Amino acid sequence: MGRRSGRRPRERLSPARNAHTLVTVAGQEDLIESDCATHGLERHVCVHEAGHAVAAIDHGIDFRAVVSYDDASAPRFMDGLYQAAAALDMSRTPQEVVEPDPRGAFRFALAGVAAERAVLGDYILQGWDQDFRFWRSGSGTTHENAQEAIEAILGKGIMEFWEETYEWAEENAARIEAVADVLGQQETPWEILREQVEAILRD
Ligand SMILES: [Zn+2]
Repeated sequence: MGRRSGRRPRERLSPARNAHTLVTVAGQEDLIESDCATHGLERHVCVHEAGHAVAAIDHGIDFRAVVSYDDASAPRFMDGLYQAAAALDMSRTPQEVVEPDPRGAFRFALAGVAAERAVLGDYILQGWDQDFRFWRSGSGTTHENAQEAIEAILGKGIMEFWEETYEWAEENAARIEAVADVLGQQETPWEILREQVEAILRD
């Protein structure tokens, strides 16, 4: 993938114009679901998780598999408000993932939305919310007004990390898309092991 020149303007961090949030209140379940009218939620999920998987491999971050969930098995976030469609199964706590290399882990966390933006041209904001929460949990910065503490750990601004990670995603868009295509071909619920991701990237 060719690299486009120059620094990315700040509005790159804004979500898709066509992204919208559906709030469904059904009995005891409050389910917030995001969607994209252009690409569909499933394609976004596959590209997002492929971005994390490729970034994990590039940053030496261990994971067991990329897994999708059906409704019954899906982990819930934010007191059950969010339901994950797919995730990287790290088999480790956020602390164990973030502490050895907080900056690499931050790029890894950003890689999901960066992959969506680089491959699809837009992204679904809730994905980043969950990823940021994961990193903050692992770095011990879950308190309010934590931006200073976060940037002290990172050593530079969050936007600089975003721009770097977005450039990485653009340069690696073909690798990310190759993995996303395989994820999209599976019958839900699926599971693709790290070794399988590595094999896709070798081909
Ligand atoms: Zn989209």
